[in-house]
Amino acid sequence: MDLQRIVDETWEALADQRGSGTPARYIPALELVDPRQFGIAMATRDGPVYCAGDADVPFSIQSVSKVFALALALEREGPALWDVVGREPSGNPFNSILQLEREKGVPRNPFINAGAIVTTDRFIGDRSPEVAIDDLLARLRLMARDEGVTIDTEVARSESQTGSRNRSLAYFLADFGRLLNPVEDVLSVYFRQCSLAMSCRQLAESALFLPFDGTDPVSGVTMCSPSRARRINALMLLCGHYDNSGQFAFEVGFPGKSGVGGGILASVPGRASIAVWSPGLNRAGTSLLGAKALSDIALRTGWSVFSGK
Ligand code: GLU
Repeated sequence: MDLQRIVDETWEALADQRGSGTPARYIPALELVDPRQFGIAMATRDGPVYCAGDADVPFSIQSVSKVFALALALEREGPALWDVVGREPSGNPFNSILQLEREKGVPRNPFINAGAIVTTDRFIGDRSPEVAIDDLLARLRLMARDEGVTIDTEVARSESQTGSRNRSLAYFLADFGRLLNPVEDVLSVYFRQCSLAMSCRQLAESALFLPFDGTDPVSGVTMCSPSRARRINALMLLCGHYDNSGQFAFEVGFPGKSGVGGGILASVPGRASIAVWSPGLNRAGTSLLGAKALSDIALRTGWSVFSGK
């Protein structure tokens, strides 16, 4: 299969729809991004990354970071993490507080904001926020094989300034005794983790551990065990797009994780990790063009976790 051609044809077929959807407005710094940008990168076990469009432009990965935070929190905490975070789809928007009271401060899954705040807290563990964030950056640079992965401090500041909802979630969690660290320490790491600036190419490369049983087949670097990688994929499929997860599984058929910066990271077990980026979002915070691109790639390749081919 000529994967470069598939990536090129997908990009070209959708290029005239660039700018569709609505960029996230509640984080002011994200509004400044040119909405017509559109990138695709596909990494496989072959080595070279198949790219099209703005695949080398860094963007704010936002909630795509929750996948890496989950892998690293599980590494530190082990299965005990599941005592404080559930594994069920929420059916609610990303920043909803509705279920948190009824479920006694145990968020439904690690990809809604409440769950990610708990995950980040466990990733920090007994370290300072600075040590934890340095650790996260070092791991991503290692996995991406690129020292160019950074944190956009302007986006982090913007998020913190308008972060009342995330503060509410975090204080609610703290009231239930679910956080080990002070709320502001946890949020300072959470906001910076969401503000990681990465390109589609860097993202696809750093996520190769997901479709390949926990170990990057190109570099040989292990991020997690095979069973843990499978479970993270399962959670991405069921919860990776908030109240749009069913639709994404239906249309695309790959585990994926969205971010309100317009990025989507998809994992096609045994085959590829694919990162797409276009800032315009649908109502659930998923990149409109990004989801279309992944659906188009699924169609052109015939790949799906629901197919035996
Ligand atoms: N930083 C965003 C927030 O916490 C992440 C949401 C997302 O990307 O889905 O509101």
